Amino acid sequence: MSHPSDIEIARAAKKRPIREIGAELGIPEAALVPYGHDKAKVSADFIEGLSKRPMGRLVLVTAINPTPAGEGKTTTTVGLGDGLRRLGHKAAICIREASLGPCFGMKGGAAGGGRAQVVPMEDMNLHFTGDFHAITAAHNLLAAMIDNHIHWGNELGLDQRRITWRRAMDMNDRALRDLVCGLGGLANGVPRETGFDITVASEVMAILCLATDLDDLQRRLGDIIIGYTGEKVPVTARALKADGAMTVLLKEALQPNLVQTLEHTPAFVHGGPFANIAHGCNSVMATTTALRLADFVVTEAGFGADLGAEKFMNIKCRKAGLSPAAVVVVATIRALKMNGGLGKDALGAEDVAAVERGCANLGRHIENMKSFGVPVLVAINRFSGDRKAEMEAVEAFVRAQGSEAFACTHWAEGGAGTSALAARVAEVAAADRTGFVPLYPDAMGLFEKIETIAKRIYRAEGVTADKKIRDQLHAWEEAGHGHLPICMAKTQYSFSTDPALRGAPEGHYVPVREVRLAAGAGFIVVICGEIMTMPGLPRRPAAETIGLNAEGQIEGLF
Ligand code: ADP
Ligand code: MG
Repeated sequence: MSHPSDIEIARAAKKRPIREIGAELGIPEAALVPYGHDKAKVSADFIEGLSKRPMGRLVLVTAINPTPAGEGKTTTTVGLGDGLRRLGHKAAICIREASLGPCFGMKGGAAGGGRAQVVPMEDMNLHFTGDFHAITAAHNLLAAMIDNHIHWGNELGLDQRRITWRRAMDMNDRALRDLVCGLGGLANGVPRETGFDITVASEVMAILCLATDLDDLQRRLGDIIIGYTGEKVPVTARALKADGAMTVLLKEALQPNLVQTLEHTPAFVHGGPFANIAHGCNSVMATTTALRLADFVVTEAGFGADLGAEKFMNIKCRKAGLSPAAVVVVATIRALKMNGGLGKDALGAEDVAAVERGCANLGRHIENMKSFGVPVLVAINRFSGDRKAEMEAVEAFVRAQGSEAFACTHWAEGGAGTSALAARVAEVAAADRTGFVPLYPDAMGLFEKIETIAKRIYRAEGVTADKKIRDQLHAWEEAGHGHLPICMAKTQYSFSTDPALRGAPEGHYVPVREVRLAAGAGFIVVICGEIMTMPGLPRRPAAETIGLNAEGQIEGLF
């Protein structure tokens, strides 16, 4: 039996008018800013009025180290939200918006999959409510003001070779990674080297996702360091007087978007920072709004738990004063087999031993998440080819870890497929057993923070870094940035910095190649390996098969 595709399921969805979704959370119609009939922004005024309300329980969905076999974090976030709501709880989900680049490349959509999706999925994967376009515009306004400043005499004494602010576009376009702008003679500005990053990699994106209101947004935008003078003094967006106009461009975008799942669970879809050079989760505005309106809020962090959940805890929760009530680690039999050493072609046959070997990866993530003081559950996202013996092996392993695993069939069956997980999550989260503590205090030295993450989360022997990097970290501490959290940028495929080292590697060192200060976002990016801020398209991009059919419907999005 062939299963309908994600887009076929999404297209057949019977959506409720968005005011009904809002009403379920007690949002009056006047507080919704509709974008069509099935999407709305929640107005900033209404959100401000919620600030005294108590918050519901926050549940984080994260995963084992990803493999090409797929884990399904978003699918599980949607399925668990639907499962909680089916049990009669007031539940909502919070996920990220999608970037256009990967949609036309190879990654596919960001709305979940199968019977656990957010709709309208076509809109969500394309222009949605225009937030990313607004972020792109705000980013490029600053870039234009920089080159204009130099053109008109460079009063601030910017060193053209030390400008770090690049341009942004929401498209995978490798040809724009490095270029020279300002060519064409005197009237066209001053030539200098620069390039484009994809919009989700923009610091403006990270700022929008961490800002708590418009004032905080403007303060953070003003704090952006765009480059340095000849004497290496940092120059901010505020010095260029760009922060006010950037805030104006982002005013609507800061308001969270409300849509629904296939089963009409309210879904806040807002913000989409990269999970490598940024923190990889939806906006603080959306999460806190959802928590003030619902009893349970299920959200997701990008990549595996070593990267995504670590940053969710140490950056987002710390800075926004959030305290997760439970963590759900998603694993699939297929990905466990790959973590157990099998290749992608060998996943079809039953192989309990490979599953058991791969469980070492799962076990370490469970331990790590528990170390934040939060109860941990495991969701086994079931694929049709999974064997009973393989499932039992995982369940036994997780039990031995003092945790519980739940087989979930939400992809095939929707929220009914997570009923056991949802019941247990609700029970555990409502018991308020959480004693959430971030991994390191603000006051710890920057290098020590990096070491703490490497040793405690990656289980590395240590961190290696040139003197130049250590000196830079010291200089930032002297300049008053020592309290900032760390935003690690390393491969998502391994606990180590070697993507080929699956499972639970030990004895490795984490080499720090580069450090960057994101003064507006409020974190120090620590780069350990290659990171891509402008992806390319594959040889056969998905764009080749995307088009409108005879009925005018979109085909080829998945
Ligand atoms: P993540 O959020 O971890 O990146 P997603 O939830 O977006 O992953 O899922 C990635 C893809 O895998 C989607 O296309 C989804 O339809 C598919 N998928 C997820 N779970 C299953 C499953 N149980 N069976 C088949 N396909 C699945
Ligand atoms: Mg996802």
